Amino acid sequence: MTIWNLGSINIDKAYRLRHMPRPGETLAATGFHKGLGGKGANQSLAAARAGASVVHLGAAARADDWVVGRLTASGVDTTHIVRHHDQATGHAIILLDDEGENSIVIHGGANRTLQLDQFKSAIARMKGGDFLLMQNETNLQVELAQIAAKRSVRVVYSAAPFDIDALRAVLPHISIIAVNEGEAAQLTDLLGGDPDVEGMLITRGAEGAEYRDLRDDRHFQVPAFAVDVVDTTGAGDCFAGYFVASLDRDEDIPSALRLAAAAAALKVTRRGAGDAIPKLAEVEQFLA
Ligand code: ADP
Repeated sequence: MTIWNLGSINIDKAYRLRHMPRPGETLAATGFHKGLGGKGANQSLAAARAGASVVHLGAAARADDWVVGRLTASGVDTTHIVRHHDQATGHAIILLDDEGENSIVIHGGANRTLQLDQFKSAIARMKGGDFLLMQNETNLQVELAQIAAKRSVRVVYSAAPFDIDALRAVLPHISIIAVNEGEAAQLTDLLGGDPDVEGMLITRGAEGAEYRDLRDDRHFQVPAFAVDVVDTTGAGDCFAGYFVASLDRDEDIPSALRLAAAAAALKVTRRGAGDAIPKLAEVEQFLA
């Protein structure tokens, strides 16, 4: 089946600095790294590298062919990505100082300009048994989730960056919700009144992850694999993409959790977001 991913595409620009700039100060960076990021792009990469058939629904500037090329090179179908002449690709300016502190500025840019009619031909191809994956870094989630759910597409909402109002709006249309531990605690009341949500995926960093089947109240847990941690950016996205790709292959929940935890463990041993997400063969080798 197909995983449709309504998701952000960002360019992450990371600058290393001796200290954070003070108001009015001009500061030379001591290092620079540019990479593909955005929760949406990361999750598309993860699901595609896990072997799923993934179509990305999003937008980027025409000038930034390399970001779209990065997705295409990993097997993501990028034909429905809207290309703009007059909108910037979403980007994150990441400042890292020698104390390990970071400050981040995000500009949503093209990610926040999506319109339903731009995805008409994609919508026409959505069918029962497909997945629609979404996060909270674009617009259009409620509109698309509503259409998808009517066609028995299973909607998976990765509720990050967390916004309770955005979640409340999309909740009637979603099957599975993915959150981190702090957010899960805020959801108990909200989900109590909504029997349509099948399950909740909770990631807990170095403590591993859990899936709660909300229909029969079963819980499944997976510990995190012990690895040397280099950079946890994008670990949750890597987990979510691998998890949905496993469900799409009809794997059971314990197998999906184990594969996703292994993929995320490999990711945290590598620097970067999208570029650091491992391929299925690497994950299988890690588990062997
Ligand atoms: P997010 O990146 O969204 O904050 P988490 O920090 O919960 O998400 O991480 C997602 C998953 O990545 C975890 O459930 C775990 O499987 C894996 N992971 C995160 N940090 C580590 C770590 N230090 N060691 C091993 N695995 C980790």
